[in-house]
Amino acid sequence: MTLPTTHVSFPAGAVTGESTVLAVHPLDDGRHAVVTGATPFHPLDHTWPDQPADLGTLTVDGVELAVVDCLTGAVGPDGGAPLVGADIPVRRGDEEWSWLVLHVLATDPGDLVGQDAVLAVDAARRGALSASHSGCHLLALALNEALAPRWRKDPGRADAFGHPDFDSLAMASSVMDTEASTDTYRLGKSLRKKGFTAEAAEDLPALADALPELTEAVNRRLAAWVAADAPVRIDVPGPELTARRQWHCELPEGAARIFCGGTHLHHLGELAELRTELRLSADGSELVAVTRPKRA
Ligand SMILES: [Zn+2]
Repeated sequence: MTLPTTHVSFPAGAVTGESTVLAVHPLDDGRHAVVTGATPFHPLDHTWPDQPADLGTLTVDGVELAVVDCLTGAVGPDGGAPLVGADIPVRRGDEEWSWLVLHVLATDPGDLVGQDAVLAVDAARRGALSASHSGCHLLALALNEALAPRWRKDPGRADAFGHPDFDSLAMASSVMDTEASTDTYRLGKSLRKKGFTAEAAEDLPALADALPELTEAVNRRLAAWVAADAPVRIDVPGPELTARRQWHCELPEGAARIFCGGTHLHHLGELAELRTELRLSADGSELVAVTRPKRA
């Protein structure tokens, strides 16, 4: 029997839930994965692993089990054990496949199938990851705006505010932890071909020289958004793990939307401060933004 795609409640911010255990699978490393019909746990995404997994507990019949990791698993139309990470041979969300939240336990919990589980996410960790993730999206918008004058032609991709989408066009990796979001951008030939310039021009200092001013402009924008206490929500087309969700933030300049599989704050007033630090590699080929939220 193929398992149904897991229904998830983390997009709305849930950290607790109850559900029936549908399967327990041994994993390669001696650990075990528990699959439930629904869960509040946010698993690491195998294709875009930006937000780390939720941790927490799973309680069955009064026995509390530590969830030490949470992964995305996929089961093909022929059934069998779920595949994880690089072993998944199809695109994320392939409709022929079932997409499962795997609650990873360090030991074999025995036969739990059919029993009710109480699921509880480590809420403090989740809150910190959500703050970092919201900060990451805001940084993207503020950075796109600050870098807009450096585009010599329209790259053909704009963000919610109509600025050339530097964030998505140059993104090499985006990683959050409980302290910060670290976004790494590649300033290579292909970005230059699309029209971006890091060089000095008549009306523009070289990117390296402009960095302090750019950082200030981005931080001023971030501070204004935090001060506006803008509401944040995730638009959810369906309850499945694989539903194509959108981050939606009602900023003073208008509504911003970004496709996103992660978790977020409910409003920006949950932050006391949001600041970024921009660093350019010595050879100018890489721009790194480390964006730290301070929670109110
Ligand atoms: Zn996101």
